[in-house]
Amino acid sequence: MHELSLAEALTESVEKWQAANGGKVLSVTVDVGRLGGVDPEALEYAFGLIAPYKIRTVLLPLRFRCGRCRREFEMERLPESCPECGAEYFMLRRLNGRELSIREIEVENV
Ligand SMILES: [Zn+2]
Repeated sequence: MHELSLAEALTESVEKWQAANGGKVLSVTVDVGRLGGVDPEALEYAFGLIAPYKIRTVLLPLRFRCGRCRREFEMERLPESCPECGAEYFMLRRLNGRELSIREIEVENV
C-alpha cells in the first residue's frame, strides 16, 4: 500500500519535529492535494497502524489562475471553464494539487 510508505515518511517528520521541540504529540493534521493520488482514508488507516497519535487529513481545494481575467479561484474538482470570465479550461493554470504536507502538530499541554 502506497499510503503506508507515505505515512511512514510523515511519522518520521513528526518524530524529528518532536525530537527538536519535545512534548507528547496528540494529533497531526496533514494537507492532501486532490490530484496527488493519495486516498485520505487509506492514509488515515495506514497512520493508525504505525503511529500512536491521531491523524486528520484536510483535502485541499484546487487553485487556478485564469490566463484571461488573471483572477485566482478555488474549485473542488477540475473546472470546465473560468467561473469569473468563462474562459476555456486550457486558459487556466493549475497552481496546486499534489500536496502532502503537515499543517499542524497538536501537542499535549504540560
Ligand atoms: Zn477568467
